[in-house]
Parts: sequence; C-alpha cells; structure tokens
Amino acid sequence: MFDDLRDLYQEVIFDHNRNPRNFRVMDDPDREVEGFNPLCGDRLTLYLRVADGIIQDASFQGSGCAISTASVSLMTEIVKGKTEQEAEKLFELFHKMTTGEEGEVDLEAIGKLAVLAGVREYPARVKCATLAWHTLDAALKNQEKSISTE
Ligand code: ZN
Repeated sequence: MFDDLRDLYQEVIFDHNRNPRNFRVMDDPDREVEGFNPLCGDRLTLYLRVADGIIQDASFQGSGCAISTASVSLMTEIVKGKTEQEAEKLFELFHKMTTGEEGEVDLEAIGKLAVLAGVREYPARVKCATLAWHTLDAALKNQEKSISTE
C-alpha cells in the first residue's frame, strides 16, 4: 500500500473514532444485538430499524478501541438504505478483505470500508474491525441477543 493512501485511510479511521457517526441509542429499534470482543474489550450495542427488507436506520452505543469504533461508525453509515441482502453481501466482502481468506477483494466494490483493509496485517486487530459486522450479521439473522468474537 502506498504511504499517502495509508495516511488517508488512517485519517478516515481517526475521524470516525473522534466523531463516531450514528452514536446514539435508538428509541424503538426492530433489532438490538450486543457484540463483545473479549480479546480487546470492545463492546457495542447495535440498533437497527428494518422495514420492507430495507435497513431504514442503524445506530450504536458502546466503547472500544479506535479500530472497533471506526468500523462500527463506518458500518452504520454504509448499511443505511441498503437491503438486508446487500448488507449481508457487504459483511462477506468485509470479512474477506480483513481476513484475506479468499484473496484480494475488489476494493471498489467495498467503497469507503476499504480504509480498514490494513488490519489484515495485524491479526490481533482483525476482531476489532469485524466485531461490528458479526453483530450486524446476528441482527440480520434475528436469532441471538448477544454475540462474542471468541
Ligand atoms: Zn479493539
């Protein structure tokens, strides 16, 4: 990765950590799931409002490291207005991007989420970045009230 691109990515992560988007309790959510990453101590509660298969609103509360906060902030911003299937697709892409299991992911397709691609080089931080998405996955499946990355 080029240094200037890395700097830009870091700037986006710092910005989302300093000013997390959609950081609020939702009054009447359709889905509410707690996510916990014991490896780092990241905790969050994700709220979704879903109607006609579309994520109308997404917000979160909690506390965690810069990576986990930036990741959930970016995620709530990106999944708003998406269908549940589109959000699941993004979860798959994001998982591939951060774990590198299935080779390179088309960073164009993943848009702004590409700023977190660098965590792949830091295995200890991957769960910080994917916590938000595993929590979203649980919320979309609508079965569990809480998840843990361990
Ligand atoms: Zn963390």
